[in-house]
Amino acid sequence: IMAATGCSVSGQDEIQTFYGQALGTSYSIKYVGEKNKVGKYQHGVNSVLDRIDQSMSTYLKKSELNRFNDAPVGEPFHMSDDLFYVVSQAQIISEKSVGAFDITVEPLVDLWGFGPSDRPDIVPDKAELTKAFDMVGYSALQMDTATHTVTKIAPREIDLSAIAKGYAVDKVAEYLDSLNISAYLVEVGGEMRLKGKKPNGDSWRVAIETPESGAGGIYRILPLSDRAIATSGDYRNYFEVNGKRYSHTIDPKTGFPIDHPLVSVSVITDSCAIADGWATAMMVLGTRSALELAEKEQLAVFLIEKTADGFKEYKSSLFDNYEFKR
Ligand code: ADP
Repeated sequence: IMAATGCSVSGQDEIQTFYGQALGTSYSIKYVGEKNKVGKYQHGVNSVLDRIDQSMSTYLKKSELNRFNDAPVGEPFHMSDDLFYVVSQAQIISEKSVGAFDITVEPLVDLWGFGPSDRPDIVPDKAELTKAFDMVGYSALQMDTATHTVTKIAPREIDLSAIAKGYAVDKVAEYLDSLNISAYLVEVGGEMRLKGKKPNGDSWRVAIETPESGAGGIYRILPLSDRAIATSGDYRNYFEVNGKRYSHTIDPKTGFPIDHPLVSVSVITDSCAIADGWATAMMVLGTRSALELAEKEQLAVFLIEKTADGFKEYKSSLFDNYEFKR
């Protein structure tokens, strides 16, 4: 998702913008307020994001997550509030999606060449798949809420790529709330949370991308305020062998990249972490199950399928509360 055109306004209440890098991706912040605070706010935002990176990064060798991944089986591992919360939310989404979402899918992700090990883009053989499979399964993570510890009861590694960006958005939004900023747009790696309105009274506008590689165009524009939105798509990160596309979203049941017409899932809810996790879960599930679960979980969901006749759209009933501008 991207922010669609911030209009420029004059007067004291202007939209201020700043950008940066975090969690292996870029972020952008817009807020309505004084320009001379940009430096101070950016510093604050960077420290929030840095804290989350130190905790959840797969790429920083010493991150809390990697220390957990290196920790032995059977030993309770104490987690920070940030990490414990995200892992707990991920486990809930795993249960509700009956394993479509699984933060222990990392060995499979890596095997398919989308992990930190920079494996080449080749289709793995059966023996490799079986071996990776043995290391996957979220139910081998035992959560203890009282002590904030997680115990692996079998070899497991966690990958929070499908939920950490959303969590980062929530934490930055909370930071801006604490500064009494009443209107903002927070975006980290395409996931967003928006509050209040622009100075001219309009809602913020979110652009849903055309789900095609390289195109980068805007498919729909959605006015949105006081909500979070996350989009999962397989049009950006994939590889091709013999004309067949292999997505970075893996179905933990089959061990294979997802392979169905659903190409874009947007989820709107209050928490960006939850929206982010569900977007990936629904991407795995495919259109029918995604829509069923959206009703059950009361989520506003917008799906795009790519068919021979072009794009086809689906909405959950809660999505009727929202109206596209284009
Ligand atoms: P998108 O770019 O579509 O928003 P994300 O970057 O949010 O996707 O998440 C994709 C990443 O999530 C993958 O690169 C992988 O690390 C991880 N992942 C893949 N399949 C699953 C799954 N079934 N459950 C949880 N995480 C997954």
